[in-house]
Amino acid sequence: MLPYRPALSRMLPYVPGEQPPPGKYIKLNTNENPYPPPPAVVEAIQKAATGPLNRYPDPMATAFRRAAADALGLPGPEWVLAGNGSDEILTMLVRGFVGEGQKLRLPYPSYILYRTLADIQGATWQQTSFVDDWQLPAAFGQADNDLRLVLIPNPNSPSGTLVDKDDLESIAQGLPCPLIIDEAYVDFASDDPAQFGKGCIELVQKHENVMITRTLSKSYGLAGIRFGFLIAQPSVVAELTKIKDSYNCDALAIAAATAAMSSQDWLRDVVTRMNQTRGRMHVELAKMGFDVTPSHANFVWCRHPDGGHQRIYETLKKAQVLIRYMDFPDWGDGLRISVGTDEQIDACLALIRRSI
Ligand SMILES: *Cc1c(COP(=O)(O)O)cnc(C)c1O
Repeated sequence: MLPYRPALSRMLPYVPGEQPPPGKYIKLNTNENPYPPPPAVVEAIQKAATGPLNRYPDPMATAFRRAAADALGLPGPEWVLAGNGSDEILTMLVRGFVGEGQKLRLPYPSYILYRTLADIQGATWQQTSFVDDWQLPAAFGQADNDLRLVLIPNPNSPSGTLVDKDDLESIAQGLPCPLIIDEAYVDFASDDPAQFGKGCIELVQKHENVMITRTLSKSYGLAGIRFGFLIAQPSVVAELTKIKDSYNCDALAIAAATAAMSSQDWLRDVVTRMNQTRGRMHVELAKMGFDVTPSHANFVWCRHPDGGHQRIYETLKKAQVLIRYMDFPDWGDGLRISVGTDEQIDACLALIRRSI
């Protein structure tokens, strides 16, 4: 056995959702966008592909940071740090704030990758269960000497639920460490057009210890490109820049992501369409007797009083429809179904109807 760090030898690997070769399945298991990205993105990649690929890309992805600051109404590009997927941003945050033997806090059930990132550092994690209707208990904001980072997906996965901005603010104010709000699904969350895509940006502007992560993998339809970013105060961005790989985002990805951020009308249209489909999924699953959690994301979490979730998942898989069966120890299991096209969802719902 080679002398791996003990933390590495002890840990279990993170298991991503199934990614079968394209074409075989109706894929409703990893919350990708069922629609292709904006046409401007494809053009930008084609143009970049004829550019100087023998040269290194812009290490700070400046064009992207400008486009993101414009689209989101941030004071300037210095509030943005680009990453190779928001998973890379989360890695930078954990590396930047959490050392061996220190502690990270997260709600339960939520995004499992956070625990993996803590494990890599040789850190520990503390999970606090959500209370009624997926809100956080007051204890979630309790200070603790070893606590170095708190992570909350908002909207949460697998539930698709939102914690109030005011609650997040009071949690942040009581903490001795940063609060990371993972807004991977925020574009699907707002019913108010004036608040579209804003999420908790206001809290970042008010509090140095509040940071947001975003991704282009879900609402922008770019999971295949790998691009995500951090929104934080400029001093935080400057400090975390020290950790990142020099050229963490490649030239084609920067071009694609810049064009995507400049396609806000496209984004609003696709989100409107997907949220309509989500509404229909909710109604139809409820008619079949499922307990459906009202979702603010591009997926729906549901549980049937008769159980049988794993069996339903298997039946659908045999019929080439892939959804996500999730089992959370000491909490329970259920099905997470990504929003697809209307046609894909009709096929999925028909199979579920026959298998319950
Ligand atoms: C999908 C997802 C991400 C990962 O985004 P990438 O940019 O594709 O790495 C981060 N957080 C949550 C909660 C997610 O569901």
